[in-house]
Amino acid sequence: MPYIRIGKCKRCGKCCEGHYIIRGHNRQVLKENLIIMGLSPEIIDWIASQDFKCPYLTYKYENGRKIAVCTIYENRPKECREYPKEPADLLPGCGFSFVEVKNAKSFVQSNRIEEGEGK
Ligand code: SF4
Ligand code: SF4
Repeated sequence: MPYIRIGKCKRCGKCCEGHYIIRGHNRQVLKENLIIMGLSPEIIDWIASQDFKCPYLTYKYENGRKIAVCTIYENRPKECREYPKEPADLLPGCGFSFVEVKNAKSFVQSNRIEEGEGK
């Protein structure tokens, strides 16, 4: 069943805090790959516990509200533009969500919903 992404980025920055390598659901996959690489359990645990905050992420404040800013916004990677790509990608509090639809095109037309913009 296809999904359609709706909503809008709230610029919380959570996905950029651990976007490139680890999001919650694939932390275990990372560990499994590191085991295959033959790293010691201590090193694996340390790597898998890191947040891997993106170096291009910074924050600013507007009216007391903390807002994530991508300092390479115009040239950000495809992965960033497309996040979240599927329901499993969603982080708690993300402004996007997904609805399951039989026919995404007719769903959008009948509900006049525009797909959400990526960050
Ligand atoms: S490049 Fe920009 S959008 Fe991508 S993770 Fe870093 S700060 Fe976020
Ligand atoms: S895409 Fe979602 S998790 Fe990422 S900054 Fe926007 S609202 Fe936050």
